[in-house]
Amino acid sequence: MSGPPPKTCITCGRGIAPSEVYYRFTLVLEGEQDVLDTPRAGSGTDELTALLKQLEASPESSQAMEEQVHWERAGVVCAACRTVVMRTLAPPTEPAGPH
Ligand SMILES: [Zn+2]
Repeated sequence: MSGPPPKTCITCGRGIAPSEVYYRFTLVLEGEQDVLDTPRAGSGTDELTALLKQLEASPESSQAMEEQVHWERAGVVCAACRTVVMRTLAPPTEPAGPH
């Protein structure tokens, strides 16, 4: 038997049969900030310096820090998980009446 390699849903881990519909996706989350926190004068705490020190102290957490800035996932999801993903990314539906 030769054919396309079996696919697995990246969200629920379920195997997707070749005859099943699946959905390919690429999701990139880029950390951005329009306004930087201005250091409060006289507070005595430099948050960025503290963060850098924390980063130096535990290099294994730098991966997590990096993921806060750039996080990327790509793969395929099954039809059921597509619904979940779409619901998660959709703006909250307001219980508003008809216009
Ligand atoms: Zn799934």
